[in-house]
Amino acid sequence: MKRLSWVVLCVCIASPLAAQEREDRLLLPWDQMHAIINEVSGERALQAVLEMVPYPRVRPRAEYEGRFRESEVMARLAREYGFSNVEIEVFPSPQRLWQATRAELWLVAPRPSKIADFRDVAVSIASGSETGDVTAELVDVGAGGRPEDYAGKDVKGKVVLGWASSQQLQRLGVFERGAVGVLSYNPIHPEDDIDQIGSQSISASAPQGRTAGFGWSLAPRHGRDLARRLAQGEKLTIRSIVQAESFPGRMETVHAVIPGDGSSDQELAVSGHLYEGYLKQGANDDASGCAMTLEMGRALIRLVADGKLPKPKRTIHFLWVPEISGTAAWLQKHGDTTKKIVADLNFDMEGLALARHGSIWTM
Ligand SMILES: [Zn+2]
Repeated sequence: MKRLSWVVLCVCIASPLAAQEREDRLLLPWDQMHAIINEVSGERALQAVLEMVPYPRVRPRAEYEGRFRESEVMARLAREYGFSNVEIEVFPSPQRLWQATRAELWLVAPRPSKIADFRDVAVSIASGSETGDVTAELVDVGAGGRPEDYAGKDVKGKVVLGWASSQQLQRLGVFERGAVGVLSYNPIHPEDDIDQIGSQSISASAPQGRTAGFGWSLAPRHGRDLARRLAQGEKLTIRSIVQAESFPGRMETVHAVIPGDGSSDQELAVSGHLYEGYLKQGANDDASGCAMTLEMGRALIRLVADGKLPKPKRTIHFLWVPEISGTAAWLQKHGDTTKKIVADLNFDMEGLALARHGSIWTM
């Protein structure tokens, strides 16, 4: 990924065509390629990720009223590295934000044991879950994503367990059949990532006469174990404790610039998303893309300062944004700049194992 990204960056910078030999597939002469290879550092990008998202943390309320951790880290590092016009811009968010302040899931019978606590794994509670302290019997509905999964099963007043998404389980189990909540074990790759807990949400607004209930996200290993115990005839009783609050949302965009040499009116953008929902703070999705583009910029600034690369011909805007909504808000506010930007290179999930997840890199 690193090398590919650098080849991409090389497109962005205007190189005086030095009369020297080139390897056919490269866009720059070898001395410039070697300078890039020797300067750019995956370790520094990793350090930036660790500063932004050190662990699956619960975002403190103070960040919603001040600045988000990721924005501050990116802005501080961008200034430190010599980017120009570094700024954190704030935009109103169309949606109210949901945040749990306490969330625990217990198996209370036959023997009490704690299944999950959002202070251990922040995404274990599905966002949108309503405040409540509910104890009820657990019912396995298999997948739980089709009406036939519920045939012959009484889920009213109970908690449904399934491997469909928490939203599907909520719609079919809670809204249509009166269950009180859902436990979903629904990661993207259940066979490869048997201990992975997916980030999930449920709808906070219920149809008339129903409540939204609660949703929990379990690892496949854990969900299957509960299903096996139910299949063996055990009666399992679940207690879900949720305290949640909701408040007006806001978005933050970090913008930084590497100025061009003044010879072109065209400008470029390089981007990654800082947030995807405020609860899920993804080291891979997409602190990795932000950290990598920051490192691209840092190395370019350094190499230009050292005289190893020419100044870029076009001004490069670095945009670290709340994914789609934050990008739209920034573009709308900066209409004049937007008109000059001829291309954007967006990087999402740079920490992904491409082969393992069957992904592709395209440009
Ligand atoms: Zn993403």
